[in-house]
Amino acid sequence: MRIVLLGAPGSGKGTQAKKIMDARGIPQISTGDLLRAAVAEGTPLGQKAKAAMDAGELVADEVVIGMIRERLQHADTQAGFILDGFPRSTVQAEALDRMLDEAGQPIDAALLISVPFENLVKRLTGRRTCADCGQMYNVYFSPPAADGVCDRCGGTELVHRADDNEETIVNRLEVYRTQTEPVVDFYGQQDKLHRVDGEGGLDEVYQRITDTLGL
Ligand code: AMP
Repeated sequence: MRIVLLGAPGSGKGTQAKKIMDARGIPQISTGDLLRAAVAEGTPLGQKAKAAMDAGELVADEVVIGMIRERLQHADTQAGFILDGFPRSTVQAEALDRMLDEAGQPIDAALLISVPFENLVKRLTGRRTCADCGQMYNVYFSPPAADGVCDRCGGTELVHRADDNEETIVNRLEVYRTQTEPVVDFYGQQDKLHRVDGEGGLDEVYQRITDTLGL
């Protein structure tokens, strides 16, 4: 199944995409993760993207579209994939449709995880990610059992993302409202849009997603 996960920053897209990946064996493709890896490696693409990411702005459409085009050519996407954080503008959504149409493999469903705007800031400032295994936590809502130690792999580096600070978050949410929300309508017009309530426990939200998509 080819799925686009939509939702504001902090709505839980990444966490839920990983759960679907583990359960269904289809890859999660996160443009944010790919960009952070490029920045960490200091590649030319990473150098181009860094300033926009630090400011909470979108990286140029042609950069992320090129990245996705390349990633979708890998054999592991044959049985399906979950796009997490892409498309984030209608230009990206249209480009994605074109490349998937060419391959005869259109998107099956777009799923919007909706969380009230006023709750997103706390979800983002509290977010931590294990540097070793990628497991995500929230110090307010879903902390690890032992302070600073990953439940899954025992790693002791739980990282607070540089762009999860309040100033950048306000801009990221504004960018979402103005540039990414139209993508929700884009899939609505194609009759591919499903919505789930993103409030509640991780497993509860996951259950809603699998029920909605019939996974
Ligand atoms: P994320 O991890 O999805 O929250 O993405 C982190 C940052 O990477 C965003 O604030 C953007 O600067 C950049 N980014 C990720 N995905 C995209 C995309 N599809 N288009 C443009 N910029 C993106």
